[in-house]
Amino acid sequence: MMRLLKPLLASVALCSLLSLPARAELDVAKLKTTIEASVENEYPKLDALYKDIHAHPEIAFQEVKTAAKLAAEMRAIGFEVTEQVGKTGLVAIYKNGDGPTIMVRTELDALPMEEKTGLPYASHDKTNWNGRETPVAHSCGHDIHMASWVGTAKTLVGLKDQWHGTLMFIAQPAEEEIAGAKAMLADGLFTRFKKPDFGFALHDGPFSYGYVSYRVGIGSSNSDSLFIKFHGRGGHGAAPQRTIDPVMIAARFIVDVQSVISREKDPTEFGVVSIGAIHAGTAENIIPDDALVLGTIRTFKPEVRAKMLAGIERTAKAAAAMSDAPAPEIKITEGAKAVMNDPVVVATAEKVLKAAFGDKMRVTPPGTPSEDFSEFANAGVPSMMFNIGVYELERFVAASNGTGPELPSNHSPLFAPVPKPTIETGIKAMTLAVLSAFDQHARGK
Ligand SMILES: [Zn+2]
Ligand SMILES: [Zn+2]
Repeated sequence: MMRLLKPLLASVALCSLLSLPARAELDVAKLKTTIEASVENEYPKLDALYKDIHAHPEIAFQEVKTAAKLAAEMRAIGFEVTEQVGKTGLVAIYKNGDGPTIMVRTELDALPMEEKTGLPYASHDKTNWNGRETPVAHSCGHDIHMASWVGTAKTLVGLKDQWHGTLMFIAQPAEEEIAGAKAMLADGLFTRFKKPDFGFALHDGPFSYGYVSYRVGIGSSNSDSLFIKFHGRGGHGAAPQRTIDPVMIAARFIVDVQSVISREKDPTEFGVVSIGAIHAGTAENIIPDDALVLGTIRTFKPEVRAKMLAGIERTAKAAAAMSDAPAPEIKITEGAKAVMNDPVVVATAEKVLKAAFGDKMRVTPPGTPSEDFSEFANAGVPSMMFNIGVYELERFVAASNGTGPELPSNHSPLFAPVPKPTIETGIKAMTLAVLSAFDQHARGK
């Protein structure tokens, strides 16, 4: 609850600081036409940038060439760029008089996986990851975000008579490892540079291009990694009475832990625990000493998270105790925290985006993946993250009503956004969202 209230109060306080003379509301229809013309004009360059980044992806904290390409683009637009913030991250600043500082984030990283789209600009690149050679692909669409980010910067600078303040465009490394936002903050993102008054980010997803979806409040899940090592006493499979069987303890835990979800957690609240890996033993007739269980825990609310962590730990200890085994080793590593969209920032952007996109701007339920954009909101920046679609409407409708094939989602080797309308929607929506925040502030509301 505090998490929801704090950004709300911060936004209200910031907005009421200024009591400038009343300004006319933004003329969204006129702005939309201007933005569309600017994007159309810029698109050939953005298309080339997108396809270059797509064909040459780089994974978490290796995004050196990608960052250099974006730094050059932003300098050409007139931004002052600082490189290597949080290892490979960028901070690009554009000052345009007195007013709030508004942050726009893109991610830089791709995924360690093979692209199978067969597109002419598909990635064939490989890299070294954890000591192994792996193919790399932009299968989460962060390349779409980068092209939209550069396009938004260009468009906002072209519209600089419409707003006053500072643009703080950041390019964050290692989103896929939920490490880049923390790395940038630890490297002085909000101390070496001014802490922004508002923050925005977008993410693409497998729905129709031209559409924008958003949420008020919780936007993504808390994610925790689970590591449990059950200790037993190894021996002959034919003489189990002389052993303590850790495989059976692990099996009991894997089944019983789901009762934390079904019996302990409020059924109306979101919570998931999935065991993704079990490692134990070598041969069919040897009872091993240990069994290792790895899993992921996803929740939206801190109180649900606390309840689930306690239940998971208790179930693991009880499973071991039933076999008179030593206590298991339990490690729970906190990953991303849930993204909380600020109600005031969302209400402001929503008005303008609805005027521009009509019924193509929709509220959706929170998503269960995780995202480290939450780090910036938790550091005190009232923020909004929204989603844009990437596929043709007809394909989306056919997939939804079962008359066409499923559409590949993010992280699929077949994920293939249609670049032009997707990037154009990203630029249009992000430009209007940023303008709405400048405008709201200038009108002292
Ligand atoms: Zn991803
Ligand atoms: Zn992503």
